[in-house]
Amino acid sequence: MKSHWSDDEVKGLEGLDLLVYASRLVGAEPSLVVWGGGNTSLKVTEPDLLGRPIRVLRVKGSGSDLKSIVARDFPGVLLEPILALLKRADMDDQEMVAYLARCLQEPDSPRPSIEALLHGFLPSEAVIHTHADAVVALTNNARGREAVQEVYGKDVALIPYRRPGFLLSKEVAEGVRAHPRARGVILEKHGLITWGGTLKEAYGATMEAIKVSARGRRPSGPARPRVLDAAARRDLAVALAPILRGAVSRERRVLLRYDDSEPVLEFVSSPEAARLSQVGPATPDHTIHTKRVPLFVEVEDPSDLGALSEAVRGQVEAFARGYTEYFEAHRFPGATLLDPYPRVILIPGLGMFTTGKEARAALIAAEIYHRTVWVLGAASAFGPYASLTPKEAFDVEYWPLELYKLAKAPPERELARRIVLVTGGASGIGRAVARRLAQEGAHVVVADLDHPGAEQVARELEERHGAGRALGVAMDVTAEASVRSGIRAAVEACGGLDVVVSNAGIAPAGAIDAMALADWERSLAVNATGHFLVAREALRVMKAQGLGGSFVFVATKNVMAPGKEFAAYSAAKAAEAQLAKVLAIEGGPSGIRANIVNPDAVFRDSRLWSEEVRAERARAHGIAPGELEEFYRRRNLLGVPVLPEDVAEAVLFLASDRAAKTTGCTLTVDGGVRDAFPR
Ligand code: ZN
Repeated sequence: MKSHWSDDEVKGLEGLDLLVYASRLVGAEPSLVVWGGGNTSLKVTEPDLLGRPIRVLRVKGSGSDLKSIVARDFPGVLLEPILALLKRADMDDQEMVAYLARCLQEPDSPRPSIEALLHGFLPSEAVIHTHADAVVALTNNARGREAVQEVYGKDVALIPYRRPGFLLSKEVAEGVRAHPRARGVILEKHGLITWGGTLKEAYGATMEAIKVSARGRRPSGPARPRVLDAAARRDLAVALAPILRGAVSRERRVLLRYDDSEPVLEFVSSPEAARLSQVGPATPDHTIHTKRVPLFVEVEDPSDLGALSEAVRGQVEAFARGYTEYFEAHRFPGATLLDPYPRVILIPGLGMFTTGKEARAALIAAEIYHRTVWVLGAASAFGPYASLTPKEAFDVEYWPLELYKLAKAPPERELARRIVLVTGGASGIGRAVARRLAQEGAHVVVADLDHPGAEQVARELEERHGAGRALGVAMDVTAEASVRSGIRAAVEACGGLDVVVSNAGIAPAGAIDAMALADWERSLAVNATGHFLVAREALRVMKAQGLGGSFVFVATKNVMAPGKEFAAYSAAKAAEAQLAKVLAIEGGPSGIRANIVNPDAVFRDSRLWSEEVRAERARAHGIAPGELEEFYRRRNLLGVPVLPEDVAEAVLFLASDRAAKTTGCTLTVDGGVRDAFPR
């Protein structure tokens, strides 16, 4: 493998900074490690509490990712107490974790990797551990030991599979002592360890080890069934996604990610995929993200949506039953069943769906399965692919240390796992709603006629909440095709839809006898038909999912109490409100709720209140435009200005499960306007 080490780039770097540099080089190469896999270390001399020089192991902390690692992700562990453990016969995980916690240079640093002892026990200054595809392709094989011998001879020590922990660390140390000429250790069905007097040497040894074994091969043979063309695949994936999402969300909602990249498509459509995909993971920690095996959907003709949907529903349930049996067969006292639904779904001719509690988790599962596809192909060049036994895989998936991490994770936000569409999301009430719902954990699709504006809000949300959490789409709610493509974008990105905040609107003002037909029709197109088109498309997705859903229509105080010279607006918004109520009636049997928020006079950040609208409303009330906001404030019972954030709060309530038993309801956010009380 080609080295990316640059002596120019490391000029002036030493110690921990150099370790960060080398770790990022390793992390940047997905064929070495993906998403939290692998770890690196450097032994250094640092002052202790009293300023005396001591030897310290700087090793990757648990929960960090090598490609983006920073210095504080490397806890310092005192080396002397680590080496004292070499005398011990055994040590369980909990004791080891507690012991390491007492050896930290900084008490508040992250927990050292479970492989910390392995690094500490090796005498070299620098140690790098990867899950290199090229190495696991050799060991995950019915003739793995032979294959390792053929490729590496006496250059490496081979350590039989064992879950990481004290014993594996000790076996590695003993293996290296017994093979003083070894330049690396291969951990069976797990990965590679290399070392050196410097980080550059250790990195070079990793590169060298990969060079000799990179003999990848793709599964071959005629495709089965035929691979659909790109446009047909995409259309089918969009039609199938809500059905699949519903099927795999029976326990807890998940998001989906669709992948029809060439290596995936070639693999899932190969004659070997049905069998090969069911053997097991490439390396133990993949199990945590992808489960032991994916669901391989057996289907005669993937282009037949009806047959495919039926196959998916039945086989997803069968997978969950099989997973529950696997859990029961290997469980230990006190273990609780994790979500039994598949994380990776392979469909011949179509591609791969991955699932996750958020977009990022679905991405991680996809990237890991890309590596698995490579390893499955490459391993087959040496002999039949082999993997962890079901028991070994279970012991990693239900490893108490991993479950502890899950238990320690902060509780999920109210709208976690929900996909929300907000129309008119680039400004005013829509933007405030998008921000508020994202803050509660939602994945938000920001739709607006102003596409750059929608994208800007989405970018802001991603910066605050993480990549994949928001998407900006262009949507003209008056155009059937535009609404359809906006909702399709949401389904393509996340797999479905849970909440729709139908908010886009305009406010044309003018007396009836002076109103142009075009103004009237424009108001009906945006303020009435626009809501219909969005509701119709979204309702179809929600019904396909079968997970219920929630619509919130942003209407207006004018529905209850119209004002003069505001006919086009008031009439169209009344139609919106009636649509919402009929939607509540029709959606009820499917668990789909529809509610209405009636705000009044929300000026801040609003495009509804253009200079023109302000001038006309001021004239209708017989006041100067500058007095308008104050006029509306005084008009309500509480004497308060109504802000976009106030409306967002009401929308959040109606969108959330706290309003699970409320539908067809109108909630006012107007400071109290007596004439507009719902009745
Ligand atoms: Zn490992």
